Amino acid sequence: LGGSISRALQQMSNATIIDEKVLNECLNEITRALLQSDVQFKLVRDMQTNIKKIVNLDDLAAGHNKRKIIQQAIFNELCKMLDPGKPSFTPKKGKPSVVMFVGLQGSGKTTTCTKYAYYHQKKGWKPALVCADTFRAGAFDQLKQNATKAKIPFYGSYMESDPVKIGVEGVERFKKENCDLIIVDTSGRHKQEAALFEEMRQVSEATKPDLVIFVMDSSIGQAAFDQAQAFKQSVSVGAVIVTKMDGHAKGGGALSAVAATKSPVIFIGTGEHMDEFEVFDVKPFVSRLLGMGDWSGFMDKIHEVVPMDQQPELLQKLSEGNFTLRIMYEQFQNILKMGPISQVFSMLPGFSAELMPKGREKESQAKIKRYMTMMDSMTNEELDSSNPKLMNESRMMRIARGAGRHVREVMEMMEEYKRLAKIWSKMKGLKIPKKGEMSAL
Ligand code: GDP
Ligand code: MG
Repeated sequence: LGGSISRALQQMSNATIIDEKVLNECLNEITRALLQSDVQFKLVRDMQTNIKKIVNLDDLAAGHNKRKIIQQAIFNELCKMLDPGKPSFTPKKGKPSVVMFVGLQGSGKTTTCTKYAYYHQKKGWKPALVCADTFRAGAFDQLKQNATKAKIPFYGSYMESDPVKIGVEGVERFKKENCDLIIVDTSGRHKQEAALFEEMRQVSEATKPDLVIFVMDSSIGQAAFDQAQAFKQSVSVGAVIVTKMDGHAKGGGALSAVAATKSPVIFIGTGEHMDEFEVFDVKPFVSRLLGMGDWSGFMDKIHEVVPMDQQPELLQKLSEGNFTLRIMYEQFQNILKMGPISQVFSMLPGFSAELMPKGREKESQAKIKRYMTMMDSMTNEELDSSNPKLMNESRMMRIARGAGRHVREVMEMMEEYKRLAKIWSKMKGLKIPKKGEMSAL
């Protein structure tokens, strides 16, 4: 996909006169690429029409940066298509909310319920899980196992076959127990069928969810629109979660789900484990859809702001090898030190959304400084190792003592490190473009 788009753009920039024909050729090529990414045909066609309106042919003919103009227009258009214009209902900590999960069997509902609960629990919420899936054998066991592992209270039954009854009982119980996030897992069927949607309607009517989340497997392809629409027609879907983004699928179906439900994507699932769950971030998602990878936006930016020869060998190091604690330390130093570059680093995958939430820069800075103090108590061996197993309990205790912090904080920092290391490992093998070269779309 990346290749065909680059080719199309290459074609553009080689043409001496930019006329409508060339623009059309370019758009057709990109259309094919987006269809391969499972973006629905109708949406691609809409985008094409909009791009033609946005991209001014005269500007293109005169300007030098044709590729950039088209790249930006397409990128922005796709971002817009993922934004339904209004945020989803957001539960408030301390106030009881009921969140119901819907989706076909195998889409990842039960897994995602637990991830969602765990994510909030880590932030101090009191979540609880209710298993209103009485259709699939073993559904309750699965939820029970997940919940137990995450130490989250759960409710369900092996005997009861009425999902409405269980849903209501579970919600009532956890409201009494002052849980502030009551999550209702539901059943799916392999196919969209009337019985499923009737069941969803009944469970929703009885448990009165504040939010219904539609869970979509990123690999469902062109089926996404009809599937999302079918759920939207029986319950009031208010948000979308796309799962299995760690696989090959680019997740173009998310655009369909947003269009069909008029709801935003709020999280993505990136693995089978409880913590493989990320707040949805539109830019990296669209980059991936276009085959740009997480990095090209960053590379473009870094070229604009800092000439390549003034870059620390950091990028080179990253492209060669592993993300060590020392590299993380250097990154933190950069973030704290550099004025104009901070805007660049806020684009670094992994550094923006979680570590430095917007509007909370002060707290983030304090956290980064705390992490750095702890790293100051590390040995060179620890800093330069890329084996997280090296950091055993006695080492963490020593570091905590040395830095005058609690060992829990050292563990938290190591979690952060692992998270970043996972994201940054994708950088391995990346070609670092030379100064003046633009990374290909
Ligand atoms: P449900 O039938 O909708 O409840 O789906 P499950 O939660 O049982 O998930 C179906 C399968 O997908 C399980 O094997 C999960 O481990 C797997 N799964 C769920 N989410 C993800 C994800 O984000 N990445 C990967 N790789 N697997 C996932
Ligand atoms: Mg399930």
